[in-house]
Parts: sequence; C-alpha cells; structure tokens
Amino acid sequence: MSEDSNTASCLFCRIIAGEIPAKIVRQDDRAVAFEDVNPQAPTHVLVVPRQHIGTLNDLTVQQEALVGHLIAMARDIARERGHAEAGYRTVFNCNAAAGQTVFHVHLHLLGGRTLSWPPG
Ligand code: AMP
Ligand code: ZN
Repeated sequence: MSEDSNTASCLFCRIIAGEIPAKIVRQDDRAVAFEDVNPQAPTHVLVVPRQHIGTLNDLTVQQEALVGHLIAMARDIARERGHAEAGYRTVFNCNAAAGQTVFHVHLHLLGGRTLSWPPG
C-alpha cells in the first residue's frame, strides 16, 4: 500500500478508485468531487485529492498548491450551480473536535440555503 492510495481501508480512496459508487460531479488528474451521501444543504459536494492525505495536519508544503486546487474546484462547482452571488461555504474538518469522520482530506461545499454562523 503506497501513501498515495489507501484503497484497502479508506472510503474516499475506494470511491476514487471506483470500488464504491458515488455521484461524481467533476474530476481531473488531481481531484474528484462527488455528492455527499447525507447532504446538509441543497448543494453538498465533497472535493477530495486523488492522493491519500489523512487530515490537514498531514499536509506537506509540496501539497499546498493541491489544497488551492480543491478550493478552486469547489468555487467552479458553486459558480456552475448559481451560488456565487448569494454565497456558499467551504469547510475542512480536521480531527475529532471538528467532527471529521472520514480520514482522507475533503473540502465540503455547501450552498443553496442560508447557513448560520457560528457553526455548531
Ligand atoms: P467529515 O465529517 O468532515 O469527515 O465528513 C465526511 C462526510 O462524508 C459526511 O458529510 C458524510 O455524509 C460523507 N460520506 C460518508 N460516506 C459517504 C459516501 N459513501 N459517499 C459520499 N459521502 C459520504
Ligand atoms: Zn484515502
């Protein structure tokens, strides 16, 4: 098992590999975006790197541009779905206190309703 792929045990690596079905929204050589199975807003998309990275704590300097790419992909999906002007939210949860449950870095894109702040 390489550090780039963790298909034996990681849910999102398995989705990226096509082993578990997901509704893919957009993908390229570095990232995959798919519908969250338990949506918290009319738009709830997860944008994940193809490379397995457990949490933001594991991010290296070399991977910083990759995170920018995830954010740009989320922005493009938000724009495509007409949320750009009204607004939308992008969130990375990191570890237990933030509620991270899948340990493959993922950016939540939430849009299509008014979102309260601060989050719970
Ligand atoms: P987090 O709590 O930040 O780790 O977010 C994990 C997200 O993954 C949650 O919003 C889940 O609803 C979502 N999720 C879990 N399993 C799947 C799946 N098989 N396909 C799509 N989304 C999933
Ligand atoms: Zn993974």
